[in-house]
Amino acid sequence: MTTLGAMQHWPLRVMRLVDHAEREHGDGEVVSAWADGLVTRSTWRKIAKDARRMAQALEALDIKKGERIATLAMNHGSHLTAWYGAIGMGGILHTINPRLFEDQLDYIANHAGDRVLLYDQAFAGLVERMKPRWPGIEHYICFDPPTGSSGGAAGDWAFADWIAAHDGNYTWVDGDEREPCALCYTSGTTGNPKGVLYEHRSTLLHTLVEIGPDIFNLSKRSVVLPIVPMFHANAWGIPWAAPATGCKLVLSADYRPATMCRLFREEGVTHSAGVPTIWLTMIEHIESTGEQPGDLKQVTIGGSAAPRAMIKWFRNHGIDVGHAWGMTETSPIGTCGARPLGWEAMTDDEQIDYISRQGRVPFGVELRIVDDEGVELPRDGHTSGRLLVRGPWVIQRYFRAAEDSTDADCWFDTGDVATLHPDGTVQITDRSKDVIKSGGEWISSIDLENAAVGCPGVAEAAAIGIAHPKWDERPLLLCVRAPGSEVCAATIRNYLAGQVAKWWLPNAIEFVDELPHTATGKLSKKTLRDQFRDYRFADATDMVGRD
Ligand code: ADP
Repeated sequence: MTTLGAMQHWPLRVMRLVDHAEREHGDGEVVSAWADGLVTRSTWRKIAKDARRMAQALEALDIKKGERIATLAMNHGSHLTAWYGAIGMGGILHTINPRLFEDQLDYIANHAGDRVLLYDQAFAGLVERMKPRWPGIEHYICFDPPTGSSGGAAGDWAFADWIAAHDGNYTWVDGDEREPCALCYTSGTTGNPKGVLYEHRSTLLHTLVEIGPDIFNLSKRSVVLPIVPMFHANAWGIPWAAPATGCKLVLSADYRPATMCRLFREEGVTHSAGVPTIWLTMIEHIESTGEQPGDLKQVTIGGSAAPRAMIKWFRNHGIDVGHAWGMTETSPIGTCGARPLGWEAMTDDEQIDYISRQGRVPFGVELRIVDDEGVELPRDGHTSGRLLVRGPWVIQRYFRAAEDSTDADCWFDTGDVATLHPDGTVQITDRSKDVIKSGGEWISSIDLENAAVGCPGVAEAAAIGIAHPKWDERPLLLCVRAPGSEVCAATIRNYLAGQVAKWWLPNAIEFVDELPHTATGKLSKKTLRDQFRDYRFADATDMVGRD
């Protein structure tokens, strides 16, 4: 017989976050910058009350515990309320990415079995087109108030009216901490999107860890503005982390850099997070207008590798960079780079090298690299292999899948190739399908791209492998010039020659007006490979010298 300890049983359930915020940080602000430019203010007290009203409204629609409530919306306070309202009544919150293709949207909502959809007016046209393809969705609720021509399609509820009919006298639905609370689909770069079903427990453990100093470093003194959509891996968990700390939360439906800079200054934002593409446009904006990002102290860059030049730029502006790696399947935080002991003794270059890698795991995440036979490889800072991960906020099995996606020891194959360093840092070499296989060895497309954007005049770069008769694949580098720049291929090539091994140098450099991005703002290598499927190097028999 198991003998239990004598401490309290306190299931790790998500609604405890709102209860805590309401009780301890009731006046704590949640600011919403709406798509039309309006800025509104709410508090955790009001959000908790409205979430209770919404839970009642869902029950009035006969929605039951465990059923899926979807959102198709940008970041704002009503969306936040809806997260907690849906989970509070025992439902599963399904955040849908509106940037997916309509076939994917069709697949996702039907696969999830969504019964209710809450959406932004901005997506009303999309919703109308999708309605015939979503037979399971019985109720449509528009977040925007019904003024003038806005407020959703005819017959749909407006969020404020829908919840106003209820008094908020409601007790959250209780249950086991391992019950599901949220569902998020990966963007499906290959095959159909796959659903990751988060639990109350996994979400709370992830929250407790990510607020710490080595990750988001959030406290009651912070003002955080995630520039990550709430449908992208739950805005990296920031809407859970804010009520845990009582920090001020600023949500914006508009990601244009001018709006961001204004919010940074006017709301006193200290912490922000986003993918490199977002920071790229922000840096360009600041450089061309001279606008300043106010009191911004820390940015977390993740989702794709943060280029060295970007890390340098932030440091030169007195802003700390945390470089995070993770995926929808890891809730999403897997690692983050923060200053280690001995930081002050490191040279400038050493510090940038350190942050250019993808950081260290927090307690709760375990990593290993293996070869193609599954044999563990050394953590020597040189050897690279398939990156496996496990831990209490890492996926076990995709939603509705018949089988686990892990091996018998719970290791999940991330699809990334990485090197583990003796100091505990991780270096993502590439996604296994993006790595350029040249003469039996690997060229990291990430490293080539990051080196290229360090060249003055290059705004963005992407490297893909092109079939080559002798070397199997060789790199093609596609560059977007910075506004006003006339940088040429020879200049970039000379610059790269000082940064990467000679045999890594691209066989060709082409200029494009823009590069394709995925629904989560990352370079879409798959689209690029399709676009350049028939591309051939001018001299495909070219010898590639090795250093
Ligand atoms: P998708 O990009 O398929 O929508 P995710 O948003 O979950 O799915 O992306 C996870 C992937 O993004 C990781 O497996 C990894 O390839 C990449 N990634 C995330 N963070 C980083 C980083 N800091 N550096 C390099 N790659 C990263």
